[in-house]
Amino acid sequence: MSVAERRILRHDREAELARLETASGAAEQQLERLRRQLSGGPGGTGLEIVDLHALIIRSPELGGEARRLINDECFAAEWAVTRALEQIRATFARLDDAYFRERAGDFDAATDRLLRVLIGLPELRSDANTPRGAVAVGVDLGPLDLFHLRRSGIEGMVGESGGPTSHAAIIARAFGLPYVVGARSITAKVRPGATIVVDGSRGDVVIDPDEETLRAYRARASADRERDRRMSATHSLASVTTDGVPIHLGANVESLAGVSAAVGAGAESIGLFRTEFLYLERPDLPSEQEQFEDAVAALRAARGIPITFRTLDLGADKLPLSVKIPAGPNPALGIRSTRFSLLRPDILRLQLRALYRASATGPLRFMFPLVSGLDELKKLRAVCDSVRGELGAERVAHDGAAALGVMIETPSAALTADHLARRCDFLSVGTNDLIQYTFAADRENGDVAHLHQPLHPAVLRLLKTLVETARAASVPISICGDMAGDPFLTWILVGLGFRELSMDRDRIPLVKAIVRGSSVEEAEALVREALAAEEETEVAELLRSRLESRFAAVIDGFIPVAAAA
Ligand code: PEP
Ligand code: MG
Repeated sequence: MSVAERRILRHDREAELARLETASGAAEQQLERLRRQLSGGPGGTGLEIVDLHALIIRSPELGGEARRLINDECFAAEWAVTRALEQIRATFARLDDAYFRERAGDFDAATDRLLRVLIGLPELRSDANTPRGAVAVGVDLGPLDLFHLRRSGIEGMVGESGGPTSHAAIIARAFGLPYVVGARSITAKVRPGATIVVDGSRGDVVIDPDEETLRAYRARASADRERDRRMSATHSLASVTTDGVPIHLGANVESLAGVSAAVGAGAESIGLFRTEFLYLERPDLPSEQEQFEDAVAALRAARGIPITFRTLDLGADKLPLSVKIPAGPNPALGIRSTRFSLLRPDILRLQLRALYRASATGPLRFMFPLVSGLDELKKLRAVCDSVRGELGAERVAHDGAAALGVMIETPSAALTADHLARRCDFLSVGTNDLIQYTFAADRENGDVAHLHQPLHPAVLRLLKTLVETARAASVPISICGDMAGDPFLTWILVGLGFRELSMDRDRIPLVKAIVRGSSVEEAEALVREALAAEEETEVAELLRSRLESRFAAVIDGFIPVAAAA
């Protein structure tokens, strides 16, 4: 919000201070109302953010400094608040720390609320008053924003930056919210109240469409819904190729809430439970007991299908409020994921204790993310051994033989997968990160999103080597990155030899339709041709020529743009 510089007369300072005080009280009342609304919601999530914003309004840095500027410098209240925020922002920018940058967003939001009251603008409500079908447009939407926006009733999002495999995009998909990333300058082009079409599957954004365009998109949306409805009827059908090879289809979930929906969609397992989301959006760390109860409830909701709990994957864009994670100059290349867990074994131990205890109640596997090599795996295993020993000594029930798996997400892990495979029970390829680190292209950065190329020869060769390595070591291997849920890529994965895929639950019917309509033999033949290709566009074209007419309804919206052109 831009506020013009304005000064007041010296003898008006008392009145101006009173005006700021009244506005702060009104902003607090708004937050209190929001607090009451959120308290009725699931798990009371978001309450801590509301509390944080209330604290910010009264903080010495914002409220205190604004009062000083009114008193000492004769600034008008809105100008004083704006200047105080600028100083806070400057301090945060100097810290060069992603954790604080994230917190800076909270100062922005709290200040915006206070300024709107001072200026007399209506509250920017992100609550039940959000109109139906509202779309949020932003520069940089993080995973936490997604939670807020969804709670506020937003039905679609457009971001200027961000990549299709960013965690915000993953969360949006889990919520079933259309989200288009990389829409450059969109915030400058859209005015509040404009009509906007957001086609999340095709990546289209149309501002102020004419009637004909609107009709076309509405028809598309209802055709998509009809397809989903038809496809979801396949949830009880087996995922087997026409030549009789079962392809295990699991689901990725971000929370307990996703588990029963995944079971309903026909998931044969929860191949990836992203546990870190229990740590976000709250001021404290979850206790061992809370994590235990969450895992037990998830196992109950899974109704006997196994759950692979991934240990904490915090850091980079997933920053908890409760603990500071050193980001360094390149957060994605810094203390993230397993590196953080090894830096804070106290936090890891708590999680492992909770999950081991839960393992006594249902089939559960452990999976370690972003392992760089054997050294880290040995350290992780040592913590597991010690936790098991501790639980044994305490006579606490647990499954001491619960499988331990490694995610292959870094080139170093891929190149040493043989060593890793000898010391774990299964491998799972996290292609989102593996591609990010192979191409040295940050998955959160829309400017390099074109380098996310799942069909690039580099990726195909890596995947082929991984399948061969796992086979040689007799260790199961699966894929849980976004590639697994793209029906356009199913032939590639099956042809390469993957027999287990884990994906967003709404992709299961689509991938199953491809599996049930194809033979392993033809997928393998295609892969032989694909491996000879020099460029990803050739592979995409090859796939399109084989799949487009045969599976038109299934892969519509999944064909890469370059191949379709
Ligand atoms: C991956 O990197 O492919 C993966 C499954 O993990 P996440 O997307 O949560 O980083
Ligand atoms: Mg990953």
